[in-house]
Amino acid sequence: PPAGAGAAAAAQGAPDAVLLTFRDLTQQRRVEQMRADFVANASHELRTPLASLSGFIETLMGPARNDPAARDRFLGIMGAQARRMSRLIDDLLSLSRIELNAHVRPEVQVELGTIVAHVCEALAPLAHERGVEIHVTRPDEPACVLGERDELIRLIENLVENAMKYGASGKRVDVAVEIEKSGEAPLIVLAVRDYGPGIPPEHLPRLTERFYRVDIAASREQGGTGLGLAIVKHIVARHRGRLTIESRPADGAIFTVRFDRATESTKKHNISKH
Ligand code: ADP
Repeated sequence: PPAGAGAAAAAQGAPDAVLLTFRDLTQQRRVEQMRADFVANASHELRTPLASLSGFIETLMGPARNDPAARDRFLGIMGAQARRMSRLIDDLLSLSRIELNAHVRPEVQVELGTIVAHVCEALAPLAHERGVEIHVTRPDEPACVLGERDELIRLIENLVENAMKYGASGKRVDVAVEIEKSGEAPLIVLAVRDYGPGIPPEHLPRLTERFYRVDIAASREQGGTGLGLAIVKHIVARHRGRLTIESRPADGAIFTVRFDRATESTKKHNISKH
């Protein structure tokens, strides 16, 4: 090519390179900003119950010192605040552990139907307390995925607990495992459905962000940390799954996760790569 064309290409190339660097920087800034926001949010979430605890300690050492009734009531509230902090720290640690392993692909074959049945059995007393019935359906054949057992348990727990917390008015939660064979390769589908008030559509895109809540007071009242769905999102991503959230006002919400179905060959293939 004539020299002029080369120079023109180089000249054209240069701005591209600048643009690329600029984009990388924006991305890096975005990540840094998100990290800073996260630390600020987490600190705020921890500081709130801590401030309340300090307040009660002062009251107990001062005005309420000789009032046994007030003392018992305050100690009850303090216990609840301490448990809230402890739940928050557990969730923060879970989230960071899952993120740390994000690039490690799980390779143990896990039968999702069995796990769902166990989790729902364990949650039955809580459901009973809330007047909710959990209905489980599973396929006749094994629904195996390549997964991390504890993380899958956590995923199911978080979705079913949310359905009971926010959809309790519907009195019923459906948890279904199905094998979807309509596409090229079969998928394992987990769907958790409640019949509560649902989620206003404008909130759906942000629902899995850390500390994002439709109604902060309602979440606090239910003992929520605002991290449940962020944990779900990370577990799904690590399992190369897909999460969809559908909700119709006054008709509840459906959280669906689709995983690739594990077969003997996918298992061997994955192991041989390591
Ligand atoms: P939280 O600890 O607040 O429950 P999550 O991350 O698990 O945090 O959920 C985020 C928010 O999403 C909740 O505070 C609630 O507003 C909303 N949400 C989650 N599941 C449901 C559901 N099944 N029905 C209605 N709203 C829900």
